[in-house]
Amino acid sequence: MSNPCILCVAITGSLPTKANNPAVPITVSEQIESTHEAFEAGASICHAHVRNDDQTPSSDPEKFAALKEGLEKHCPGMIVQFSTGGRSGAGKTRGGMLPLQPDMASLSVGSNNFPTRVYENPPDLVDWLAGEMRTHHITPEVEAFDLSHILQAIRLHQEGTLYGKLYVQFVMGVKNAMPADKEVFDLYVDLVQHRAPGANWCAAGIGANQLIVNEWAIAAGGHTRTGLEDNVRLDRQTLAPSNAALIRRAAELCEKYERPVATWQQARDILDVPLRG
Ligand SMILES: [Zn+2]
Repeated sequence: MSNPCILCVAITGSLPTKANNPAVPITVSEQIESTHEAFEAGASICHAHVRNDDQTPSSDPEKFAALKEGLEKHCPGMIVQFSTGGRSGAGKTRGGMLPLQPDMASLSVGSNNFPTRVYENPPDLVDWLAGEMRTHHITPEVEAFDLSHILQAIRLHQEGTLYGKLYVQFVMGVKNAMPADKEVFDLYVDLVQHRAPGANWCAAGIGANQLIVNEWAIAAGGHTRTGLEDNVRLDRQTLAPSNAALIRRAAELCEKYERPVATWQQARDILDVPLRG
């Protein structure tokens, strides 16, 4: 029985710069080129932030619009997921691009600590972002930085606040939030499977935790995310040459665990995110 594994490429993020790794795509055209290469290597979701020309994070809907147009042209079928994360803007500016109707958008449903600050997601903002996603028929990918975020996602989905099929991403290894801990990971998987049987889940590890969390997720039958947003290195000494190189590394793990890499059609089917007509 085949259980295709969806590979998500987090191409840019809001933190890494060319100084950290010259392969981090910053301009929209660099982002499109980097995503295209990752798409050909097996990525079926592109998780994207946009940047200003000086590499600082942006929430400019015009940049998001240009990126979406380029991805739809050069990576036809790929699921486009915009970040509504808190490093790219404050308050409602985080969702200013949602009227562009990306296929998916990331959604944080609770607060936690980040390496140097509080990651604030107050209930009224979460409700507003979720409402915008519902209005524009955008499936959220819930970013779970802590256990309570998983339970909150299940609750919000049950009460009808979240549009579409529930998709939860376990983020592990953010300093001062949930570490990459196998016992906790197993608990997360168990909770989603038992409390939200129709849901799908994926997992991402930050920094040096990326590869091991990719492997845990693939081995446990979930989906996984990689890319330069989360980690700029192949190992301690070696910078990752591209987003595609990180996707290829995840694809090799899929082979090890005898899981086919999901095509974009399979990914859309699994997540119930049809191509917009
Ligand atoms: Zn992100």
